[in-house]
Amino acid sequence: MQANASSLSSMGLRALSLGLALLAAAHFLRWNAPGQAAACATLGLAAALAPRLLPRPLALLLFAAGGIFWAHLGMELAFMRAAQHLPWLRLILIMGGVSLAFAAAAVTTARTRAGDIFGPLDGPAWTKTLAVLLVWGTLRVAQAKAPMPLLLGERFLPGSAPWWEIAFGLYAAWVTGGLLGPRGSTLRARIWALFSLVFFGQLFLGLAGWGIFLMTGDLHLPIPALILAGPLYRGHGIFMLLLFGASLLLVGPAWCSHLCYIGAWDHTMARLGPQRPRKLPAWASKVRTGILALTILVPAALRASGASTGIALLGAGLFGVGGVAVMVLASRRLGTMVHCTLWCPMGLVANLMGRLLPWRLRITAACTRCGRCLPTCRYSALSIQDLKKGRPALTCSLCGDCVRACPHGAMEYAYLGLAPKTARLVFTCLAASLHAVFLAVARI
Ligand code: SF4
Ligand code: SF4
Repeated sequence: MQANASSLSSMGLRALSLGLALLAAAHFLRWNAPGQAAACATLGLAAALAPRLLPRPLALLLFAAGGIFWAHLGMELAFMRAAQHLPWLRLILIMGGVSLAFAAAAVTTARTRAGDIFGPLDGPAWTKTLAVLLVWGTLRVAQAKAPMPLLLGERFLPGSAPWWEIAFGLYAAWVTGGLLGPRGSTLRARIWALFSLVFFGQLFLGLAGWGIFLMTGDLHLPIPALILAGPLYRGHGIFMLLLFGASLLLVGPAWCSHLCYIGAWDHTMARLGPQRPRKLPAWASKVRTGILALTILVPAALRASGASTGIALLGAGLFGVGGVAVMVLASRRLGTMVHCTLWCPMGLVANLMGRLLPWRLRITAACTRCGRCLPTCRYSALSIQDLKKGRPALTCSLCGDCVRACPHGAMEYAYLGLAPKTARLVFTCLAASLHAVFLAVARI
């Protein structure tokens, strides 16, 4: 069979992929599962028209899973027919044939040149596959457990969730590959801005009266400081705090470089500023600590004094407006993300918690102090002194821009005992997957 499989051309593998996917789609349609049918058809079309969208290990896993699925289904149906004294041989032959076709596609993908249509079978390809599975699995579980349609698309097209799950999985794979590539820094800026756009787009459409965009019907002020201050004032409502904590556990302070809906604004403002960002003065860290202290003390005092929600909202609103002013006036002028490295208390929380968690950015002995990385850091985390110390300053958000910029490969991600290359693959996979999940639900 291997010889036959090897002789399949790329065109043959594309056609076989499409045919098998359409067969699976027809099966799901028959079982009244249009979302699954659409997902299978999309995978088949991707394999036929743009196979690079499917990382090769994913194609391999899908073919293998398809082979097992059809073999299992064939056996089950044959036993049922045998129990009812109905003929079963033809069914076994048909289902067995389908199962073998899937197996042939899997072998061809794994072992022959034709499989190159899906790209290489290397570390990044497995990383992209892991991203698809993580996003697909997370959205599947979240959608199944949530009391309401979580995915925006599902709210408009009931039953379409399986399609969105696979679409966002493929998107995560694409983002993972892009972040690992030479233009990863540009892509990070774009996908981060896209998330912020979708997040605030939902908020404004909801405010304009389109309730379908507001998942719970409740509006929250989209100011990161309220992730901490909100529960302290209200005494409940820790969903955002849990989400923030989960992201910290998975990717350390990378909330502030890949995920936050406001951080993307500050990043954009800083990028509009000078090419060479200015490092913040030493006193900035004291101001930052003071703001964090006030973020804890003020809401607690408002709660203790029984201050009205109106007063609390006014205070929060003023803080938010102050943050926007900091972005426009300071970040844009200095080229440094002053809002995120000085004004926003959640940035400091992320940095401090990040120091307790295992993700690190390490500057190795390969560093020649050439300074090529310095202009890439908009978080005021890199200076010649930091390079000499072998680690970035506390404000580092693990954005990875310096890793991509260093011509000597002296910047590396570190996580416990993982080899640096593996650590970078794992980190990128997790960051891209979280981004895709956040984008898929973009909850207000
Ligand atoms: S510092 Fe605050 S606004 Fe900036 S990215 Fe972090 S949480 Fe968001
Ligand atoms: S030190 Fe590097 S990874 Fe950390 S924030 Fe600066 S550019 Fe990003």
